[in-house]
Amino acid sequence: MLLDVRDLRVEFRTRDGVVGAVNGVSYAVDAGETLAVLGESGSGKSVTAQAVMGILDSPPGRVTGGEIRFKDRDLLTLDREERRRIRGEKMAMIFQDALSALNPVLSVGYQLGEMFRVHRGMSRKDARAKAIELMERVRIPAARERVDDFPHQFSGGMRQRIMIAMALALEPELIIADEPTTALDVTVQAQVMDLLAELQREYRMGLILITHDLGVVADVADRIAVMYAGRIVEHAPVRGLYARPAHPYTRGLLDSIPRLDQKGKELLAIKGMPPNLLHVPAGCPFHPRCPRARDVCRHDPPPPLYEEVGPGRSSACHFWKETIGE
Ligand code: SF4
Repeated sequence: MLLDVRDLRVEFRTRDGVVGAVNGVSYAVDAGETLAVLGESGSGKSVTAQAVMGILDSPPGRVTGGEIRFKDRDLLTLDREERRRIRGEKMAMIFQDALSALNPVLSVGYQLGEMFRVHRGMSRKDARAKAIELMERVRIPAARERVDDFPHQFSGGMRQRIMIAMALALEPELIIADEPTTALDVTVQAQVMDLLAELQREYRMGLILITHDLGVVADVADRIAVMYAGRIVEHAPVRGLYARPAHPYTRGLLDSIPRLDQKGKELLAIKGMPPNLLHVPAGCPFHPRCPRARDVCRHDPPPPLYEEVGPGRSSACHFWKETIGE
């Protein structure tokens, strides 16, 4: 397995108390595979990714338990320098906001070339040629003419392609893309997502795609882990999850997006707001918003994904059988 996260726990110390942002998350992704991690903001999906990358804001954040195994080595046991080296060479991250992730006063060619100068010891001329090659690889039109342009001279979609090129530069084995298309309009979103999926297949990378939008991952992910209140509440191959969700939260997310196979069906938003992690509801954390909640849900937490719902599928819900059978 390329990446195997086991029972990861992350806390944040705040003035108001300790927040359990990630509470026992386990997931894995292999080479050539795409795992989508889905959830509303505050669900812990990005914090988990930051812990995997070793870029958690610390303090106030702190990994308090679990393992992050990358090719069988627990990253949490490595020293800072070794961790930094793996992060530079083997893992890369694509962020939502390319404009703030790129340096505004340096040309994109310089920033791409720097990856090769610093990590591969290339000459300025060779690094520039590699930068152009990468820009062409992510289909920036007229790359040779645009290599000296600055980030603000590119459209949002083109900037996101440059972010993808930066991430690919050193041919990492794992890429984590955190909401890579959220800031883009729908057409450009689809183009960028298709490009990412194509490159992932070509380079046989593991890809973790973090999103709040089930609509964008249907065609590109192999498996989906749905997060709520710092936990994974459902984990399933993408087709099974879309066809028969086994957790009411997943069903709520599906019912709130337009789907071609359900024309004319009313879109239903999930009622209420995600919980404040300082005051997570007792029992099942989703119970105040769950249309299926019963008394037991208010005081007994559902077992964390222990129950096999089907091959490669699990759900943290007392009543998953009813939910999947709906
Ligand atoms: Fe809803 Fe109860 Fe299942 Fe939680 S355990 S998701 S409240 S039915």
